[in-house]
This record gives sequence, C-alpha cells and structure tokens, in this order.
Amino acid sequence: MNVEEALGKRGEKSYGFIEVGSTSVNTYRIPVVVIAGKKPGKTVGFLGGTHGTEYASIEGLIRTTRELDPSEMSGNVIAVTVLNGPHFEHRSAFLSPIDQLNQNRQFPGDPEGTLSKRTAYVVFQEVISRCDALADLHGGDIGEDIDSMVIAGGGGGEDVERMAIDMARCFPTEYVSQLPASVSGLTMTAQKEYGIPCVTSEAGTPYPVRERHIQFHYEGVKTFSSTSKCFLVNRRWPRLLLTPRVTGSKHRTLVSGTVSTSWGQESRRVIWLVRSLTCSGTSLRAMWLLRMLRSRS
Ligand SMILES: [Zn+2]
Repeated sequence: MNVEEALGKRGEKSYGFIEVGSTSVNTYRIPVVVIAGKKPGKTVGFLGGTHGTEYASIEGLIRTTRELDPSEMSGNVIAVTVLNGPHFEHRSAFLSPIDQLNQNRQFPGDPEGTLSKRTAYVVFQEVISRCDALADLHGGDIGEDIDSMVIAGGGGGEDVERMAIDMARCFPTEYVSQLPASVSGLTMTAQKEYGIPCVTSEAGTPYPVRERHIQFHYEGVKTFSSTSKCFLVNRRWPRLLLTPRVTGSKHRTLVSGTVSTSWGQESRRVIWLVRSLTCSGTSLRAMWLLRMLRSRS
C-alpha cells in the first residue's frame, strides 16, 4: 500500500500491507487501514499489536476501523492493526521470535537492522511521520494482566504534553501516568521526534481475552476520534468529558474530576500523573496507586 495515495482518496477506506523486509524464506509485512475522511483535516495514527499477544487492544482497534465511516469524517485515520506479525503468529512472550528484541524499544528504528528495527523504521516513516497524533494500544503480555490505564507521552513542549494528557482522558481510565521525556525507544518517542502528542493505552491479558478490556481500547479510540475536534468530527459517537482539578508538585500531580463515560455512567474519578515513573515500573506502580486510591475511597 502507498499510504500517501490512500490518504488522497477522500471518503474512502483502503486496506493493504506495507512490506518491511524479507529473509531467504519469508517476506514480512504489516497490515494497514487508511480511512480518508470526506473532508480534509488532521491525521490520527492508531497502532495495535506492537506486542503481538496483547489481543484485546488488537480486537478493539479492528472493531473501530470497521465502524469508522469516511463519508462522515473530517480528517484521516491510519491504523496498523497488527504491527508485530511474528510476535502475533508465534505467541512468543515479550520478544520477537525472529530477532529476540522487544518491538517497543526499537523506535525510531533502523532500515539496516534486524526485523524489529526495520519494522520500527517503516512504521515511523510510513505511518507515524504522517500523523498529527498517535495512540499505541497495548495490554498485558503473556504472564501479565493489566486492568486499564493510559500512559501519556513526555517531551515535545508543554502544549504537546497537555494534548497527550487530553488524549489519555478519552479512554475510560481511572488514572494516567506520564512517561518521562528521557525514556526512548517506544512508539511515544514520536512525541519528542515529531512533536506529536502520543498515548499508550494498557488493558488486557492474552488468556483470557476479556470483553471489558476490548471495550476499553475500543471506547478510547472512538472517543478520541469524536472528541478531538481538531482531528475528526463524528457526532454520532458519544463524548467523554472530564473537568479536572489539578494540584501537586513538579514530580507528581493529582488530577480529579467528574467523568461522564460514553455508556452514560457518571462517577468520581481520580487520575494520578506520576512524572517520576520509570518505564519498566509504570504498570506495577500504577496498579499499586489504584489499589491505594480505592482503599481511600
Ligand atoms: Zn505492550
């Protein structure tokens, strides 16, 4: 697929593949859906299967790409539904079975590197560099079970960081952590590299794949698409509103407010932004924070 050409087909949805590289016996490619809105506008990128066993995120993204109607859209979506094909097919834990690398530590990639590095390079060049915002959908890998959180990107300036946090609020999450700008190698490196706001949603476990985790990603992508008025307009979809109250210090910020979720429930939510988290400890620390917040309420 030529992504640029597909973006030029106003009001059309295009499915195809981008070739990444080949070995002596196989050719590797990534599946791409380009949804070019009838009216021009900004472009949003969604990535699924950066870790191929995080199935709830993949399914949530596939459902959204099926539903999006380009005839009602202003702006575009580029979605890679399964970024890490070898990981997806072989159900290997954390690492690619081809080169034993963690795909989400290889960005912005290397065209001369092994498959994970080449994949990262192609995704950055062909997809992410054309986007005005990016959401990378994740969850627990084999042996993990993450019950819903969002990480907002760090770096790119205050305005971009604020946009990333606004994007994170589109997911029905109880808290958001912010990735330190110093962390590199993730898809969210695009926030520093290109100055585009990035988020990573985290929900699910490979076995069993739970409907509520699929819904978490699905609702987030839908809400983000409908509420980000600078990106897309699709009023059929409900909105999620958060009026935050922000307090805290340079290193941690407590945000609380009333969330109206897209399925109509209203509840008091607390979002904790922890700037000092390390990448590897993010999920565990966030789980701990949630338990602590619940025990206080
Ligand atoms: Zn992941």
